[in-house]
Amino acid sequence: MPFFDQARTFAELWPLIERHAREVLDDGKFSHGRQVERLEQELARYTGARYVVGVNSGTDALVLLLRAAGLRPGDEVVVPAFSFFAGASSVVLAGGTPVFADIEPVGYGLDPAAVAAAVTERTRFLLPAHLFHRLADLPGLAAVAQQHGLTLLEDSAEAIGMRRGGRHAGLFGAGGVLSFFPTKTLGAIGDAGAVLTDDEELARTVDALRHHGRFGRTIGDFRAINTATSLPGFNSKMDDLQAAVLLAKLTRLDADIARRAELAAAYEERLAGQRGVLRRPAVGGVEGQVFYVYLIEAERRDELAAHLARHGVETEVYYPSPLPLQPCFTELGHRPGDFPVAEAACAHTLALPLYPELTLDQLDRVCELIRSFYR
Ligand SMILES: *Cc1c(COP(=O)(O)O)cnc(C)c1O
Repeated sequence: MPFFDQARTFAELWPLIERHAREVLDDGKFSHGRQVERLEQELARYTGARYVVGVNSGTDALVLLLRAAGLRPGDEVVVPAFSFFAGASSVVLAGGTPVFADIEPVGYGLDPAAVAAAVTERTRFLLPAHLFHRLADLPGLAAVAQQHGLTLLEDSAEAIGMRRGGRHAGLFGAGGVLSFFPTKTLGAIGDAGAVLTDDEELARTVDALRHHGRFGRTIGDFRAINTATSLPGFNSKMDDLQAAVLLAKLTRLDADIARRAELAAAYEERLAGQRGVLRRPAVGGVEGQVFYVYLIEAERRDELAAHLARHGVETEVYYPSPLPLQPCFTELGHRPGDFPVAEAACAHTLALPLYPELTLDQLDRVCELIRSFYR
């Protein structure tokens, strides 16, 4: 059983995708065109963001967000030790310095107490990630940000559909991002991403940065195209064919999210009390959960993964080693033991198959194999 499969989804959505794709061909504008603009409008409606700026990946969305938020060389950004690599590399790519803080052991979000301990006089930003199925401790993190005068940005790449008090992930601070990498809850057929913000100035700057620094395509009242570049930008435009696919998939996003919740509940029920398996990050206790990934902490994790693989079940390890211990961050001088919670998570977590097309029979088989392994 594959870790991820969406063949049926694409078969079902094909007529709609084809219609949108034909519009792209008819328009003759293959990047940064009309489908991208439509997608931005639809996503603004879905998330409630005042501005959604489509770009070519979640990673570039983070880099552009940091730049547009005013990151300057030497500025420190506090990031979680346990997350996808782009959460830290984007800070370096944007010209800043990542400062790592540990996660908290129940929800796996950036730990506000660890953040407070990591802040120095050069720290200007806080960039927590919302991982797997839950939002990080936003009230706790917002309090630390306020206390130390930091700007809160969110790596909400995995968090489409996650809301707290009616507010969508990415909109609790100055801005956030979305990734449409194919395996994400809303996935394209290649790379794409977006920046979310309620701040017009920030949106306008991201709009310019994605297109060589040219201001004034779509944001606000600045409609006239100004081809003079007033800041050196990137080429981070979104392809319209990706937008065409995403527009089609957006029509069933809420149904997909509901199906993911159903499957997660089935895993919860079948794995309750299972020896060797700890439910982490914890389910419940926070609002707005969306099951992008179903993760467990498992004893003898690698042996369990091998057992499942031998029986044809693919799994993934998110994430195999803490970010501060990656070779590219050697200069920061961190050692094993510096981030105990992140390191324990890296050693024990295993992601089980979870996607709308997964059947309950397949899920039962995964759970039966887990039971037989620990028996
Ligand atoms: C997927 C992801 C990203 C990067 O998104 P891409 O579109 O793959 O560049 C960043 N942060 C987190 C937490 C992610 O899961």
